[in-house]
Amino acid sequence: MKNIEDFSQLDWDKQQGLLPAVIQNHLTGKVLMLGYMDKEALVKTLTTKHVTFFSRSKQRLWTKGETSGNTLNLVAIDTDCDNDSLLVQVIPNGPTCHLERESCWPDGDAHPFIDNLGKLIASRKGDDPESSYTAYLFERGTKRIAQKVGEEGLETALAAATHDKAELIDEASDLIYHLLVLLEDQDLSLADVTDNLVKRHNKVK
Ligand code: AMP
Ligand code: ZN
Ligand code: ZN
Ligand code: ZN
Repeated sequence: MKNIEDFSQLDWDKQQGLLPAVIQNHLTGKVLMLGYMDKEALVKTLTTKHVTFFSRSKQRLWTKGETSGNTLNLVAIDTDCDNDSLLVQVIPNGPTCHLERESCWPDGDAHPFIDNLGKLIASRKGDDPESSYTAYLFERGTKRIAQKVGEEGLETALAAATHDKAELIDEASDLIYHLLVLLEDQDLSLADVTDNLVKRHNKVK
C-alpha cells in the first residue's frame, strides 16, 4: 500500500485543497459513494486504513462509519490522469449509504454489458421462435438448452487444449451466452452466480 509520499503529485491547489474521492467496492466494482478528502483526510485514511473524508457539511474530518459502524476498509487508492481526483478501492463493512443501501446510487451494475445481455435474453421468453434464436431455445426447453451448454463447454475445452485462442474466445462466448439462457430458463440470473462467488471469496479470505 502506498503512503502519503507517493501522492506528492496531487494537485491540491487546483481543487482548493479538496479532492473528490470515488469509493468503489474492490470485489464487485460497484461504485458506492463520493466524498471529498483534504490532505489530512488522505493521511488518516492511509494510516488507519479506514476511509476518512473532509466533510463539507460538518467542516471537519469524518471517518465513514464513525457512528453507524459502517466503515470502509481501505484496499488501494489510485489517482486519475491529471492528479485531481482519487479512486478508492474498499471492502465495505455494511451498507455505505446512510439510507442503509449498499450504494448511494441506485443499482450500480458491476458488469453492465453482461447484465443487460441477461435482461435482453429474459425479454425473449415467449417471443416468436422464428424471429429469434434465443426465443427458439426457450421454446425447445430446458433439456435442449442444457445440452447446448454441455456442447459449448466441451468445445471451449477443446479449443483450449489445441491452443487456438481465437477459437477459445468464440467458444467461450457461445458457452457464456448459452449459460445465460439456461440460467434464465431456470428463473435465475448471472447476479445469483456472482453473488455466490463473492460469498465464497469472502469465506476463503
Ligand atoms: P456514518 O459515517 O456512517 O457513521 O454516518 C454518520 C453521518 O454521516 C450520517 O448520519 C450522515 O449524515 C452522513 N453519511 C453517512 N454515510 C453517508 C454517505 N454515504 N453519503 C453522505 N453522507 C453520509
Ligand atoms: Zn482529473
Ligand atoms: Zn447515500
Ligand atoms: Zn460453439
